[in-house]
Amino acid sequence: MPAEENWDQLSRWTITNMKILVIEDEHRAAEYLRQGLTESGYAVDVALNGTDGLHAAMTGDHDLVILDVMLPGVDGFAVLSALRTAKQIPVLMLTARGQTHDKVRGFDLGANDYLVKPFQFPELQARVRALLKRGKAPRADLVQRIADLEVDPIRHRATRAGQRIDLTAKEFALLALLVQRCGEVLSRTEIASLVWDIHFDSETNVVDVAIRRLRLKVDAPFDHKLIHTVRGVGYLLELRQEP
Ligand code: CA
Repeated sequence: MPAEENWDQLSRWTITNMKILVIEDEHRAAEYLRQGLTESGYAVDVALNGTDGLHAAMTGDHDLVILDVMLPGVDGFAVLSALRTAKQIPVLMLTARGQTHDKVRGFDLGANDYLVKPFQFPELQARVRALLKRGKAPRADLVQRIADLEVDPIRHRATRAGQRIDLTAKEFALLALLVQRCGEVLSRTEIASLVWDIHFDSETNVVDVAIRRLRLKVDAPFDHKLIHTVRGVGYLLELRQEP
């Protein structure tokens, strides 16, 4: 993984080749995004409704789509779901509603990230950079492989070193999330909201308990541990070089 300053250098010359499609019906918001992203060095196309946006996304060569949920006619979820039948282009969803079920629905349909309006432009920029840096986002419906771990989301099956791992539905959802976002630290709050659809403001330790169970099944029997704790922050799954 390149150091942050290397990435900044890299981004300076690659960024000019990056093309972003903004699908947003509110003219002022669309213009704000167009202007800000253009100033950041991206080429930007804007579509002001879902139908035009979907057409542009299907026929264009964009590197990223910024998609508003609330669109008249064909809404953001419908655009995303139609788009995902054909393309795996990274999609950042925008919504005025910060509701968890929207977020979960978006991720279920294959959104790569989610931002609640109103947002600060630097936050949008950071997410855009992260998505473009991640490059081709992993397909949510494909078998994911990290080292000798395989997770098949369609068949709800996980194996390690060819051995079937017996998981509950929630354990599977948790593992699939960690694998999908491999190398990225996920906070307990984010895990709780994505896997259990709960706001993690209570005393519940549901995430820690589930991680512990998952570790017993996924990591304990094997030499290389894949699930890691980032103290005070959350959890991530990745293959680390061990001494
Ligand atoms: Ca809107």
